[in-house]
Formats: sequence, structure tokens, C-alpha cells
Amino acid sequence: MTMSITRTGSVAVVSIDNPPVNALSQQLRADLLEAVRQLDADDAVKAVVLVCAGRTFMAGADVGELGRPPQPPHLPAVVAGIEGARKPWVAAIHGSALGGGLEVALGCAYRVAAASASLGLPEVKLGIIPGAGGTVRLPRLVGPAAAVDLVTSGSPVGAARARELGLVDAVIDGDLRTGAIALARDIADKPAPQPISSRPVPAVEAGFWERAEQAVAARARQELAPLRALASLRNASMTDFAGAMAYERATFLELRDSAQAAALRHVFFAERAAPRPPELAGVTPRDIRSAAVVGGGTMGAGIAAALRDASLPVVLVERDAEAVERGLAGIRAIFEASVKRGRMTAEMAAERMAGIVGSEDYGRLAETDLVVEAVFEDMAVKRAVFGRLSDACRPDAVLATNTSYLDPNRIGDGLARPERFLGLHFFSPAHVMKLLEIVPADATEPQVLATGFALARLLGKIPVRAGICEGFIGNRILKATRAQAERLLLAGATPSAVDAAMRAFGLPMGPLEAQDLGGLDIAAFQRKAARARGEAPFAPIADRLCAAGRLGQKAGGGWYDYADGDRRPSPSDRVAEIIANEASGRDRLHWDERSIADAIVLPMVSEGAAILDEKIALRSADIDLVQIHGYGFPRWRGGLMHHALVRGLRDVVDGLERLSSQGLAAPPSRALIRAAAAGAFDDP
Ligand code: NAD
Repeated sequence: MTMSITRTGSVAVVSIDNPPVNALSQQLRADLLEAVRQLDADDAVKAVVLVCAGRTFMAGADVGELGRPPQPPHLPAVVAGIEGARKPWVAAIHGSALGGGLEVALGCAYRVAAASASLGLPEVKLGIIPGAGGTVRLPRLVGPAAAVDLVTSGSPVGAARARELGLVDAVIDGDLRTGAIALARDIADKPAPQPISSRPVPAVEAGFWERAEQAVAARARQELAPLRALASLRNASMTDFAGAMAYERATFLELRDSAQAAALRHVFFAERAAPRPPELAGVTPRDIRSAAVVGGGTMGAGIAAALRDASLPVVLVERDAEAVERGLAGIRAIFEASVKRGRMTAEMAAERMAGIVGSEDYGRLAETDLVVEAVFEDMAVKRAVFGRLSDACRPDAVLATNTSYLDPNRIGDGLARPERFLGLHFFSPAHVMKLLEIVPADATEPQVLATGFALARLLGKIPVRAGICEGFIGNRILKATRAQAERLLLAGATPSAVDAAMRAFGLPMGPLEAQDLGGLDIAAFQRKAARARGEAPFAPIADRLCAAGRLGQKAGGGWYDYADGDRRPSPSDRVAEIIANEASGRDRLHWDERSIADAIVLPMVSEGAAILDEKIALRSADIDLVQIHGYGFPRWRGGLMHHALVRGLRDVVDGLERLSSQGLAAPPSRALIRAAAAGAFDDP
């Protein structure tokens, strides 16, 4: 049973109970229509309250039905049924009214919400548009401007804002059900309001739709759904209700079957699976009520800010008093920037800072539950730090390293109780980037690994389990990306052409401008260490740039020149000269955007397949999450490995063989060749 009906006087209460989120399953849709039928036939009922059990109102479609043809009754018919009911329905919203849930509420004569409720139409985030009148009823209720914001962003609004917009009729402070029943009694004898479907769409000023289109196109980049949602809203403002509904439904059905929607659904499911690795089923994480960060540089400051954002008290340990002050100033700057952007108030920033203690004294860590080390990327320095943590911390404290490339097994051996040690690899800026690679060392015990995943949840991050190799998942693929960018330059492509092609592919930034932003020194340091081990990393041009002091934006030049105070890259004659020198005697080939993107992306896939084969990543979808949340790979492409599958693994192998025969890439990895033969990656 997903529904029950009770009476209080002349008010009927329809209670939905379809755990966990009251998703609009086929059963629930049928039940709602049945409720309309029953209550319409009952003369004793004057008004109806629609309320949900559990933690939320109807939070959307049934994810089990995503991507499959929905079974009747379809949602538009359910919403129309409620809207056409002979008794006025009052939606009582708590938790989230999202997608189809909000569309059901828009069929009701009234909507009331708990103060903590949020309402939204997030369909564009799944590559579709609302399909049950969302783009048609919403502009009729709240006007086109607010409807455009809500539908094309997919972001929800809180109850107070919903009240301002007219999306809800009242915000109820006390018990929601009681408040909704009181309202239902109140309106039972009044004339029913005009159904939203028969209201006109408020007029807009000239040029409104053209401006909206420009703004949405700029934000959506290559995502189809936001612009198609806008087109549906615009159409709804010019067409009668039935025509607008038909247009919306046709768009919805078309997008539902699109490659982008399939990719976005894939990412949605990957994100749901990532926090729950099967090996940790039933393992209870340790409690994390306090945290510390050792090293307050770029990463340490960001990690400390992220820990504070999750309300944990934080100790920041640095080398000396001056470094402590610098570290604290770095964290303060992060919160101040958030205040400037309107993301938090000055009081919130002060409260965040008040929860951080800076110290040079490891003795301050005696009671800390979790310590994240973010000192220099140097084995000896890191081992020394863990030696001190071993002495200073409680024996059950979880100790983590944020190393990018070093072997966690070597960092953590020698630790008293190495089973409480693991790698937690944050991405820069650590308070912003969603990805957290969680790297168990050989000795890490399951409970400690589970604690890493629990921490990710606490910090609102996407956790991906990664095995040990140089660079783990993300930076190992990045190495392939960067090497390919250099091969392209040696073969006649310009830095601007390489970056532009990758932006056209869907990345927010090309690989060379991204290096300029982050600085070329970290990778140079790592290459130096690799050479000391007898390896031969390939970065002939980056090596020359570093030798010339061109370390990126912070040095006024890197792959590009930067005029004083200007962060926009401009092509550099000096770099062109360096490239020409390195490339002398080689063929200069013609490169277009597609061939550049292939020369970069196909070797990344090859590396990804090897990473999966070596069990450095547990599933190909985890590699997709790393690429999307750590490196800006376009979500609408579904991530690196999904993109390769859509393109066809055979085609990827053929492309790589062509590149490698010209000396422009390594041959495809054996793992990729095997996957191409099987037609799929070897996922569990
Ligand atoms: P950074 O140079 O900005 O900061 C390192 C900090 O560690 C400095 O403030 C230094 O004073 C402090 N420190 C050094 N020795 C110490 C000691 N013995 N005790 C206490 N503090 C000490 O470096 P970063 O970029 O923040 O990188 C830190 C770690 O994070 C490295 O392992 C790096 O590989 C890793 N990492 C960096 C990035 C990135 O993009 N920068 C991303 C992920 C991981």
C-alpha cells in the first residue's frame, strides 16, 4: 500500500507512504487517480489534503523507472486528474517536492509548505525537461522570469522563497498536517481558485526570451536540456494549455531517449553507488567529531576550511609560529572570499574561524579523531610527520595522507598501528572540489576505510576508492593528458589550438591553461623525483618552460603570457620559439579540433582501461566520477569511460593505433584491446 485515506470532519487526508522518498512509481500514480475518483464520489468530503509520510514529500520520479518507458497512468494524467477534481486539493509539502512531486503539487488547488521544505524541477540535471506540466503550469503560477530560473537551473528554492514567488500559498510553522487541514477547512466552502492550467501566462517585456536564451546558452555550454526547457517555457507562454502540454511532452520524450540523458543518468547512478563500496557493507565507521590538518599551505588551508564547513573543530599544525599564522590567514581568505560571493555571512565566517586552533605543538592532537597530513610532497618530510603523529595521537585516531604521487605504504610504514592509516587525496581547491580519492594502504583496516567514506559524506564530497600506483586514478590519467598535449605541440599544434579544442570538447579549460593556473612547479618536482628513480618522464617543453622560470600565472608566464594582473592567457612568442626548437626536424601536421581532442582523449581512455584492469579503480564508473569531479570532464558525456563506450571501444582502439603508428601516442593498452574485443569494460 502506498496510500491511505482518512477523514477529519469534511476534510479527507490522502497520505502517501512509498519509502524512501515517496517516488512517483506506477503504483503511486494509479493510487492518486483512484483517490481522486473515490473522493469526488463522496459527498461528505469538501476538501482534500495531500500529505506524505517519512522524510519528504514526493521527491520525484521512481529511479527504477528512469530510462525505461513509463507505464500508465502517466503523470500528466494524474496531475490533470487532481487539478480537475471536484474537491479542492491542498498539497502539504515537507522535505523536498522535486520534479514530478512538484508537478503533482501544481495540480493541487493550494500548496502549503513546512519552513524547511524545498521545491524544484531538477529534470535538466538528468538531461530531460519536466514532462508533466512543469514548464506549462509553473510560468502561469509564478510568471516566466521565476519559471525560467527554476526550470533551466534545476536548482530548488526554499519555502520562504517559494512563498515570495507565489509557488506556495503559505509556509506553516507548526505541525504541517494540522496547518494544512485547517487551511482545507477554511477554503472548503469558498469558490475554488482558477486551475493553474486555465490561467494566462503573465506578459514579459520585449526581448525577455532572447536575453534568457543567451544567458541559458552561456551557462549550459553544450548541455541540451536547459535550452530545450527554455523553449518549452517560451512555447507555453504563446500557446494554449493543451498545445503547450503536447510540446512539453514531445520534448520530454525526445530528450529521455537522448545520449545526453543516458550519460547523465549513468553519472547519477555512479554517484549513488560510489559512497557504498560492496566490501564495506555492514562495516561501521569510527566517529569523527574532531579533526586536524598538518601543513597549512594550499591544500591544508582548503582541507581545514572543508572540515570547518562540516562543523568539525579543527587544529592546524604548522612548522613554526610564522607558518601557523600564514596557514590561518589562508583559511581566513577562503571564508572571506565566500562572504564576498554571498555564500556566507560575515558572522558565519567568524564562527568558522573561531573553530580553528593553529599550533606548532603536536601535543594539541592528543584527543583528535582524524588527522590529515598535507605537508610538502617529500617522503622524508612526510615520514617524519607521521612519526610525530604516532607519538602524539590517540592509538585509535585515524591518520591520513593527502599525497598526490608518493606511495602511501611507504609513508605509513613504521607507524604504530598502521591499520588506522590511509590516503585521502583531496583536489584543489579542497573546500570546493567534490572529489575525494580514498586510498587504502596494505595495512588499512576496513573500519578505517569506512571512516574515509563517512568523512566524504560529512564533507559533501564524492568518494572514489583508488588503489596504489603513481598518481592513483586521477593524476595518473592527467599524466597521459599532459604528455599528449606536448606531443601535439611537437607535431605542429599551437597551445591555443590545443586548449580551444578541449574546451570545444566540453572541458572548462584546456590542459595547458589549467597548468598555468595551478603552476608548473609541482609536476616539475615530481618529474625530478621520477628521474632520480631512473625513470624518464616525457615533458620536453614543460621542462624548458620551468628552466626558463615560466611556472604559470603566478610567475607572469607559463604556456602563455599574462599581462600584469590579467589572468587571461595570451599566446607567447617565447613559448612558440621553445616549441619550435624542440620540434625542429619533425613533421608539422594539420590539426583540427576533433583530431586534437582524439589525440588527447583516446590515450586517456587507454590509461583508464589499464587502471581498471590493475584494479586501481573498482569500476569504470568510478573513473568517470574522478574525471568529472576532479578534472571537469563534461558530465553530459557521462565521464571518460562512458564516453568511450558510447563512441565504441573498437573505434577508440583504431584511433589509438593510427596515432601510435605516427609516433603521436603509445599503442592502446592491452586492457583496452581486451575490452574492445569484449565490447565492454571488465566491470564487477
Ligand atoms: P604547499 O607547499 O602549499 O604547503 C605545504 C605546507 O606544509 C607548507 O605550509 C609548509 O610550511 C608545511 N609543512 C612542511 N613541513 C611541515 C612539517 N614538518 N610540519 C608541519 N607543516 C609542514 O603544498 P600543497 O600544494 O598544499 O601540497 C601539500 C600536499 O598535498 C602535497 O603532498 C601535495 O602533493 C598534495 N596535493 C596537492 C595538490 C595541489 O593541487 N596543490 C592537490 C592534491 C594533493
